[in-house]
Order: sequence, then structure tokens, then C-alpha cells
Amino acid sequence: MLNFTKFERISPEKRDVLHRLKDYDEVYKVFGDSRAKEQSDRCMQCGDPYCHTGCPLGNFIPAWLKQTATKNPDLAFALSNETSPFPEILGRICPQDSLCEGACSLNTGHGAIAIGAVETHVSEDAFARGLKPKFSNNKKDGKIAIIGSGPAGISAATFLLRKGYQVEMFERADRAGGLMMYGIPGFKLDKSTVDRRMNWLIEAGMKLHLNCEIGKDKSAKDLENEFDSIFIGIGATASRYAGIEGEKSSNVHLAMNLLTGIQKKNLGNKNSDFIDVKNKKVLVIGGGDTAMDCVRSSVREGASSVKCLYRRNEANMPGSKKEVVNAKEEGVEFVFNVSPKVIKTEGNIATGVELLTTSMSEPDDSGRQKVVINEGSEYFEEADIIIMALGFTPEAPAFLKELNVETNSWGGIEISKTFQTSNNKVYAGGDCERGAHLAVTAAADGRDAARAIMQILA
Ligand SMILES: Cc1cc2nc3c(=O)[nH]c(=O)nc-3n(C[C@H](O)[C@H](O)[C@H](O)COP(=O)(O)OP(=O)(O)OC[C@H]3O[C@@H](n4cnc5c(N)ncnc54)[C@H](O)[C@@H]3O)c2cc1C
Ligand code: SF4
Repeated sequence: MLNFTKFERISPEKRDVLHRLKDYDEVYKVFGDSRAKEQSDRCMQCGDPYCHTGCPLGNFIPAWLKQTATKNPDLAFALSNETSPFPEILGRICPQDSLCEGACSLNTGHGAIAIGAVETHVSEDAFARGLKPKFSNNKKDGKIAIIGSGPAGISAATFLLRKGYQVEMFERADRAGGLMMYGIPGFKLDKSTVDRRMNWLIEAGMKLHLNCEIGKDKSAKDLENEFDSIFIGIGATASRYAGIEGEKSSNVHLAMNLLTGIQKKNLGNKNSDFIDVKNKKVLVIGGGDTAMDCVRSSVREGASSVKCLYRRNEANMPGSKKEVVNAKEEGVEFVFNVSPKVIKTEGNIATGVELLTTSMSEPDDSGRQKVVINEGSEYFEEADIIIMALGFTPEAPAFLKELNVETNSWGGIEISKTFQTSNNKVYAGGDCERGAHLAVTAAADGRDAARAIMQILA
């Protein structure tokens, strides 16, 4: 350990741009044994490890780094699965630069340990050696219904099944995984990793009901009568528009419609809603993870040009920094400090966006900079297809009222510190409660809600 001067920080190797643009395979390669061991060997084993605090799951990072460095891979696997429902997935998709690696004590000097890449290696290496996550064979009487199969729902199911509870999951889509299946593209997360985890939950006894929307295909009241507890993890799936003229034109699309259509096509699903961007000039409005996924999917679909329009500067982009770098490498052009004013149309077809340039104000007392519109700075960007990637809000479906589950002013489900809603049999977590956020925070909510449910049912 402590070998941070001997070994430098090394990020996982990326596939060559020319190759990766031809498919949706993952961009990053999984670390081999020696690279994972070297990176782990850099750890200082801090007494008060900031990486652990920076991880929303509070993963025991120094402990599994030590076991990886000292060649105890089985123990590293057990430790990394202890707190996390799917470490090999989060190692791939967490924005580590703002979480564990951003908090690593080495980050400001020698370079953070490549924690996410080691985390993925630890599990993938264990799976390759035939190890699997463990579940309890001692079945308990408590029955829990999980609504939604995204990271929050999968996490709650995992921790309940580990203790032997009976779990049934209800998902309105035709595949499980939530945004990990139909949002995050394959070049960040191979879909087989999600299916693999789902299959283990089914092997552990979970019943999965696909194409089953609660409130439509099955009533929430029936669930309340049939189960001891309910966990709601229905995400925040209502897309936002910019509220500008022309945005309902036939060639202006919501980000999720582009991404879901491409992923269904790649998975071989029959689907009539595919948005074809081949040989088209694509403008994507937005600067978060969703916008990055849209621009990078568009270049893979053969768009003739792809531009990302963002109202702040690059330093203030909300998404993962490494994904911006990847998008640039893949040929995406970024236009910073622009705000859409109106979408110009001919009939019902958008021809482009009239934009105003912006500046960033001086930081206020809290350090935040505001966007200032530069009046009179209008200019035009031509487009064949415009994609709105402006974020998501919870849908607050009608079945919540049926269950007497209260929501707040923006549709988020209100919960107590123990994830209990206004109906004490019903718990909630993930994006439907906190607003659109991250897979790892949804996973942490699902885990902690499951623990709270088990306290009551024990
Ligand atoms: C394009 C995109 C890229 C992203 N990239 C990243 C990333 O790289 N890293 C990261 O950490 N986060 C990323 N995120 C955010 C992350 O995916 C979400 O924060 C996370 O998936 C939220 O998990 P969840 O379980 O709360 O909800 P979701 O993943 O949204 O899952 C909710 C599930 O509930 C189902 N459902 C809804 N209503 C019902 C009902 N009535 N009955 C039955 N089922 C229902 C939905 O179909 C869905 O499957 C991204 C998000 C998007 C949109
Ligand atoms: S779950 Fe995410 S934040 Fe936590 S250790 Fe893994 S990569 Fe880091």
C-alpha cells in the first residue's frame, strides 16, 4: 500500500474512436489484474477515508482496495458487494470525479485512485471465476411489492432478498432496469450487465412482472391488500420542454424518445418510434448527462453534424466531465453560453434555432454564477433535427392519491427520514422522491428503504 509515488493514476483504457463510433459497445475496457492491483496499491488507507464519505453508498473503498492490492480477490468481492447492490454497474456509470474519486485524498496532488475502474474489475473478475452474489435461503414471511425496476427498485429488492424476504417487482416497460436499460446508452453500460443482475434476483426467488403498470394493469389498492409493504421507485420520467415558440414542431424531439428508440432498435425490439438522424444536422439543447448521451448516440447513428448548445460555460456543465471529453473526441461540437430564444419553422418543420449569447455573472455569496442574457445578440443555428435534453421531473401518477401518498409542489413523493411516505405501509426512493439525480443515489435510497422496511417487518 501507499505506493502512490511508484504508480501514477491510470484511467481505464478507452477503445479507439474510429472503432467505437461504429457500435454501441462500452468505450472503457475493464482493468486487468495487474492494473487493478497497482491502482489499489496506491491507496494511503486514510484513517478517515474521504472516498467512503464521497460515495453515496458509503462503500468500504479502502477495505476492498487493500484486499485487491494484497491478492485477496474473493474478500474484495464480498466487501464491495456488502454495501452496494451492483458495484460492477456503478463502477462503470458513476460520475466518480464528483463522488469517490473527487473526494480521494490523492486527488489534489498525485491523482485520485481509479476507484470506479477497480470496483468494476473486482466484480467482473469474480464473476469470471464463477462467484455470484449471495442471497439467503432462510425464507421469511414478509412480502414486499416493488414498483419500478430502476436502480432504486433493484437495490431495494437485492437487500430484501439477501435477508430472505419475499419480493415481487412490477415494471411497466417490456424490460427491467429503468433508465439503466432504456436511458443510459450501451457505450456507457452494456445492457447484459443489467440483465445479469436481474437474473440473479429472479434466481433468488423474486417474481418479476413486466408490462405491468401499477394504476393501469394492476391497482395500487390490490398491492396494498396483498403485500406487507410497498416500495415505490418509479423514477422522474416527465421530460421538460424549454417553453419557446416552435418547440412542438414535428422534427423537435425529447431526448428520451431519441435514446429509447435507439436502445430498442439495438436490443432488436420492434418499434415504430425510432428517430432517424442519419445524414441530418442535429442540434441538442442541454448540457447534462442526457444531452451527452444524445450527442454521442447521434454521431453513432451517422448524423452529418452534431452540436450541443448549452446556456452556461464549460466549467459549469452539470454532467460528468469525462463524458464531455469523450463526446469531443467523437466529433461533437460544443457551443457554450447560448440560450434558445425561438425555434424557427417552415410549416410544422423546424429549420433551426435562434439563439442569444449569454455571459456568466460574478459569483454570488454562495459561489454560484448566474446566466446573463446578452440582449440583441441573436444569431441562427441551422438544424434538420432538434433534441430537447433539458431534464426530467416526477410524473406523480394518480395511483399515489389512491394510496394516500403525498407529493410536494413539483410532484416529488414526500418521505420521512426512514423513507416512509404519508402511508406508513408505503416507502419511496430514487428519482421519484429526490428529483432526477444519479443511479448511485437511487441505489442508496433503495438499500436504506429496504433496511427501514426490514426493521418494521422483523
Ligand atoms: C439519458 C440518461 C443518462 C443518465 N446517465 C447516468 C449516468 O451515467 N450515471 C448515473 O449515475 N446516472 C445517470 N442517469 C440518471 C439515472 O439513470 C437515474 O437517476 C436513475 O436511473 C434513477 O433510478 P430510479 O430507480 O429512481 O428510476 P428509473 O431508473 O427511472 O426507473 C423507474 C422505473 O419505474 C417504472 N415505472 C414508472 N411508473 C411505473 C408504474 N406505474 N408501474 C410500474 N412501473 C413503473 C419505469 O418504467 C422505470 O423502469 C442518467 C439518466 C438519463 C435519463
Ligand atoms: S458506487 Fe460510485 S461513488 Fe461509490 S465507490 Fe463506486 S464509483 Fe465511487
